[in-house]
Amino acid sequence: MLDRLEPQAPDALLALIRLYAADPRADKIDLGVGVYRTEDGATPVFAAVKAAEQVLVDTQDSKSYLGPEGDMGMVAALMPYIFGADPTMGGRIQGMQTPGGTGAVRLALALAQKAGVKRVHMGVPSWPNHAQILADLGMELAPFDHANADGSANLDAVLAAINGAAADEAVLLHACCHNPTGIDYTAGQWARIADSFAASSTFPIIDAAYQGLGHGLEADGAGMREVLAKVPEAFIAYSCDKNFGQYRDRVGAFYVLAKEAGALDTAFSNANALARAAWSMPPDHGGAVVRIVLGDAGMTKAWLAELDDMRARMRGVRDALAAAGTAGRIDLTPLASQNGLFAMLPVTKDEVAKLREDHAIYMAASGRINIAGLTHANLPKFIAALAAVTG
Ligand code: PMP
Repeated sequence: MLDRLEPQAPDALLALIRLYAADPRADKIDLGVGVYRTEDGATPVFAAVKAAEQVLVDTQDSKSYLGPEGDMGMVAALMPYIFGADPTMGGRIQGMQTPGGTGAVRLALALAQKAGVKRVHMGVPSWPNHAQILADLGMELAPFDHANADGSANLDAVLAAINGAAADEAVLLHACCHNPTGIDYTAGQWARIADSFAASSTFPIIDAAYQGLGHGLEADGAGMREVLAKVPEAFIAYSCDKNFGQYRDRVGAFYVLAKEAGALDTAFSNANALARAAWSMPPDHGGAVVRIVLGDAGMTKAWLAELDDMRARMRGVRDALAAAGTAGRIDLTPLASQNGLFAMLPVTKDEVAKLREDHAIYMAASGRINIAGLTHANLPKFIAALAAVTG
């Protein structure tokens, strides 16, 4: 039976990790993997997370099952950060925990499909798993160009998608810190997007995987909130894996905005059934940690300070890249106004290979770089290598 299976292409980024690990050059630079790194190249556990883990170890008195909705204390504690001062929007928002942002995206798309959505419009390039999940569910992807050549977001394309979507179609947007381009909609663009959703009754699905990594929790949530304030219904897929540094503990949440509170029970009876069939219930540890951090003023303060440090470091790298102006053919100035962990450099596959072979610089073949892989120490080498290869 196994002979009937076709081999699948290995994950390109995992292959890159192996190549990087095997490279003996001392000055090698890893810009591939999508995790935050400090100036020292580490991805440490947040001190606030460590403190909450200690509380969990000391106080947890059972590991008995929770339901498919997971830790509802964590789901509720996050809501003011995501949705603002009226976190349920008058009782119209409810959520459940998921295994990471990936689980939340999966659940959002599966529930949309159950509600009749067949086709999803999405700006490309995007996080590759969006397309994979859609394909796995048998849903159709309707791609549009996310970015303009000058490094700004393509507003016309997203408005055309929203305004042109049929009744059985949805539009999926990144809330902030777009992966892989780093190109987010401006406040003015979000206002136009929200108006288009309101006027067209197209269904919004918002993927918020990096809140707090762009310009801060409030600023990064503002565009999403603008949409939610104007539409009757929406799905939000949320990840705490980046903004709490809990990557491997798989912490996410799925939220539904409904026309009225009464519609949420049916929505969540379906979401629970889908979760039950897919993963039964989410892993508890990381979600409990988020609940404990957010329930303690001191730990919350420490978490916010650590998030500020991460963001400031990445803004510093972006500003330093932009200050270099150009490197060879590549204009680095737009990077300062882009956000989050990633940027896309317009380099060819051959140039990516040359950067790796001649300069020990590892990046995805698409030209995506992890901003947090750059430091004060390795930035000059990176810029010089980029100039040499693309000049
Ligand atoms: N959405 C986007 C846009 C992402 O980049 C990622 C993570 N790379 C996710 C969702 C999923 O995150 P998680 O690791 O929490 O599953």
